[in-house]
Amino acid sequence: MSEDKKSVLQEYKLESDNELRFEVETKGEKVYLTLKNGLAEIFGTELVKAKTYEFTAGAKVAVFTWQGCTIEVKGKTDVIYIAKETPMVVYSNCHAALEIMRSVNEKNNKRGPIAMVVGPTDVGKSTLCRILLNYAVRMGRRPIFVDLDVGQGNISIPGTVGALVIERPASIDEGFSQEAPLVYNFGHKSPGTNSKLYGMITNQLATTLKERLEINKRTKHSGVIINTCGWIKNEGYKQILQAGEAFEVDVIMVLDQERLYNELVRDMPSYVNVVFLQKSGGVVEISKSTRSENRDQRIREYFYGTPKNQLYPHPFDLKWSEIKLFKIGAPPLPDSCLPHGMKPGDNLTKLVPLTPNVGILHHILAVSFAEKPDDEVILSHVIGFICVTNVDTDRQTISVLSPQPKPLPNHILVLSELQFMDSH
Ligand code: ATP
Repeated sequence: MSEDKKSVLQEYKLESDNELRFEVETKGEKVYLTLKNGLAEIFGTELVKAKTYEFTAGAKVAVFTWQGCTIEVKGKTDVIYIAKETPMVVYSNCHAALEIMRSVNEKNNKRGPIAMVVGPTDVGKSTLCRILLNYAVRMGRRPIFVDLDVGQGNISIPGTVGALVIERPASIDEGFSQEAPLVYNFGHKSPGTNSKLYGMITNQLATTLKERLEINKRTKHSGVIINTCGWIKNEGYKQILQAGEAFEVDVIMVLDQERLYNELVRDMPSYVNVVFLQKSGGVVEISKSTRSENRDQRIREYFYGTPKNQLYPHPFDLKWSEIKLFKIGAPPLPDSCLPHGMKPGDNLTKLVPLTPNVGILHHILAVSFAEKPDDEVILSHVIGFICVTNVDTDRQTISVLSPQPKPLPNHILVLSELQFMDSH
């Protein structure tokens, strides 16, 4: 099809179990999609008939139909085709199996299934989580979504792990509503940068989650869906095993990699149901530069919102004396110099006080929930994030961008490796 033809209005007739896949790559381009007839969904969220949905650069979309439908697409797509082979029936069977577990556990007032999705990068892990959560919430469930992917996660900003109660299906363009997530700051975009800290934080999230599951019956019976990052070899594999144990998972869905599947069958306790799933042929590989852009975009949205839902962050100054700034991790000491009782590697989870300096410019700072500036800070969840936009060493102040006006809800701040250039 010629480029010109792709940019005009096109109608696509999909038979049952077919999927229309498209990508929008050109910056500034907008593609409009309307469901004309039948029923269709995007990653588990139903489309409203006659409503027009807008997609911008970066969108990689699949419109799936169980019953058949007609879709109208306007605008220039870079790739667009109908796929007849999709793994949606298998994914829907996974949902059905989880739903049976939920119903049985509800009768016995036990917690619902805890399912973890694992696999290499770019196999559709986040997408499968989104589909399963959407299907659950459409059945009236209130599952918890846990995201352990610190690089391309879907909760809060990059560099964090978190949990979110899902109360309604994901919005087609903005994903799940981010109301009151439980967020822990890891401070790096790759778990391998400090795997000891990553393990501690995911364990802490698991502990808090178990307590929270008991609070609300509906959530308790609905269970949890956990997304992970694509780090599956060596230390990454150990982290998967550790997360499986910490969250007490009942089910592990392994996407695309038989080796990982076999290792998990071998290493997980026999009561954990490990299932192998094909990845969808539609999943698109994301380049390193796009991953980095996606991270920037998520931080920008944290402060400024989306075109549909704009936010207005507050710039203000903070005196160095008003805050207590820390970083996690001290430089390693030679074994011969380790203080008594300290093991090699302990430095990685040491809380180190920091005097503000130009090195923190553009960095994200986590506003901790901790009451005291002691070791508790490392395992405390965060209230939110601010970004350093200026450091004035003469006046001993920093300028920050904050979602909330002054004063900060807490003066204990933790430095993140993540940076954001505020271009507004
Ligand atoms: P990561 O390792 O980065 O966390 P992932 O395994 O979670 O990646 P996804 O983020 O789910 O993978 O998918 C990668 C991209 O492919 C996303 O942009 C998603 O929208 C797109 N995608 C997923 N499934 C399909 C599909 N069936 N058709 C078209 N695009 C798809």
